[in-house]
Amino acid sequence: MISGGLDSLLAVALLRELGVDVTGLHFLNGFGAGSLRKRVCESRSIEEIAAEEKERFESMLGIPVRVIDVSEEFLELLVSPRFGFGKNINPCIDCRIFLLGKAREIMEGEGFDFVFTGEVLGQRPMSQYLRAMRQVEKESGLSGRLLRPLCARLLAATEPEKEGLIDREKLLDIQGRSRKRQMALADELGIEDYDTPAGGCTLTDENYARKYLDLTGHIDSAVTCEDTVLLSMGRHLRLSGGVKIVVGRHELENNYLESQWGGNVLLTTLDHPGPTTVVIGDPSEEELLQAAAVTARYSDGKREASVRVSVTSGGDVREMEVAPASDADLDRWRV
Ligand code: SF4
Repeated sequence: MISGGLDSLLAVALLRELGVDVTGLHFLNGFGAGSLRKRVCESRSIEEIAAEEKERFESMLGIPVRVIDVSEEFLELLVSPRFGFGKNINPCIDCRIFLLGKAREIMEGEGFDFVFTGEVLGQRPMSQYLRAMRQVEKESGLSGRLLRPLCARLLAATEPEKEGLIDREKLLDIQGRSRKRQMALADELGIEDYDTPAGGCTLTDENYARKYLDLTGHIDSAVTCEDTVLLSMGRHLRLSGGVKIVVGRHELENNYLESQWGGNVLLTTLDHPGPTTVVIGDPSEEELLQAAAVTARYSDGKREASVRVSVTSGGDVREMEVAPASDADLDRWRV
């Protein structure tokens, strides 16, 4: 299983050095910061992103790679993860079990010998301490068939080691949060183009978590993939229990809102450069005036006494003239 981070690439390189025939699996759970950015800023579909990632990994690693979109299914996992959340809304243990379970299905279905990951003992607080690693191995149905080459010598021998498919002596014993040994190994193996840990999972982001919990606290229906993309962009302001607005922060976000959320009420300023605002929910006239005031506040007309704002709903376009929202209003509504 390859995430694109250094550890998983090192694990691939190490096993290839040992002569193992490797196929890469990369799962798109819909919350990778890089893929969310591409969806908003480059208007890419998840299929396009999957195709790009496949090409990138294959040329980087020289092995066949399958990029598998599990984003719809992954949303169910967030509703009530069995092993709970980490610091934010990251259900890391359930996530590992889910993805490794998918890898196991492929392993069993196609006659592969084992699954391996780039996990390092003690590197991540929630999912990479010994108890969690054992739990994940067992719950994913991979007992004895999950190899972690970078720290294997600190763990019990797996079946492929016992069967002689892998020489345990050639595996590593890296542990802890320091990246020094991995960096040195990357230099040795000539690995350069890897993702930084900061480019990682949006579910670990505090701001994203706050917006996600605000959404789930105000809807009865299930969260959709489109919702999760919207949460990753713009300024979110809740005007009432049933009405929220999202204000674009730059041209790419404005374009995204217009193209993907154009079925909702959209607002923008008429006489000044300004954002596109989308209204989620069924707004009252007063809430439309508030949305217009926020739109004006984030436009170049923010210091004017009044600003003209266009309000588009379905085929209807009308105009409102409002005073830009005050700081106090923004603080009151900001999610
Ligand atoms: S950080 Fe995100 S992708 Fe990584 S294990 Fe946790 S939930 Fe899964």
